[in-house]
Amino acid sequence: MSRRLENKTVLLTGAAQGIGAAIARLFVAEGATVALVDRQPEPLLTLAEELGTAALPWVVDITDTDAVKEVVAQILKQWSHLDILVNNAGIVRDALTAKMSREQWDSVLDVNLTAPFVCTQAVIPAMQSQGQGVILNAASVSALGNVGQANYAASKAAIIALTKTWALELARYQIRVNAVAPGFTQTPMIGSVPEKILTKMCEKTPLGRLAQPQDIANAYCFLASPEASFITGQVLYVDGGLTCGF
Ligand code: NAD
Repeated sequence: MSRRLENKTVLLTGAAQGIGAAIARLFVAEGATVALVDRQPEPLLTLAEELGTAALPWVVDITDTDAVKEVVAQILKQWSHLDILVNNAGIVRDALTAKMSREQWDSVLDVNLTAPFVCTQAVIPAMQSQGQGVILNAASVSALGNVGQANYAASKAAIIALTKTWALELARYQIRVNAVAPGFTQTPMIGSVPEKILTKMCEKTPLGRLAQPQDIANAYCFLASPEASFITGQVLYVDGGLTCGF
């Protein structure tokens, strides 16, 4: 069987660990060449070494607009085309709204919302002139609201709005834009969530478990692939049924 992302070039943010690392491994296995972007040098370089010539690491903080533009320029110089952008990097800084600092609010909105905006703006000209492209965004079940996550929930609801807006704006260039909305997924991001809450979350989830990074990477790979060639502006919930019913 032919590989689903053969000869595709990818810019993936938040690649060093968790869902990003799972996406990187799967995309490379499916034939893509991936620019791995993350602000953590150590795990990023280790992953790049594991993936070999199909991966190119870039130690960059995606809230640095000039650095993002430079990475995109360098990628285009080296590869001459950029087919897929995965806006995966994200952070949490949880607090109840009454106690949330301005820094907690700003930092989450900067990484989860403004940086994907900047990354997307940076790749649009190349994708427009190619007449094709795929942009994938990291949403979350928290977009529906979550106690202690006003900043995070707002960023994820807003990225869904951007997904739909970009789908409309970019469809004429055959650029597809979709989002993946995971439920609780076993990555370092949920490392500080108390065991009690994770157990409760499993009980509330119809399929009875947390997601593994691979579950989420599979959804990204499908949406990036030609199998999804008529899908744009959609949010794919990968949550074991958590958000079904009322
Ligand atoms: P993670 O914390 O394990 O990994 C996130 C990666 O993003 C890290 O490697 C980190 O260094 C990188 N990163 C953060 N800020 C950055 C910045 N400014 N510049 C460059 N890199 C940066 O998180 P994860 O669980 O793998 O989450 C990936 C995405 O999925 C996030 O957008 C997250 O909001 C979303 N998500 C996660 C869950 C979950 O339960 N884990 C659920 C729903 C959605």
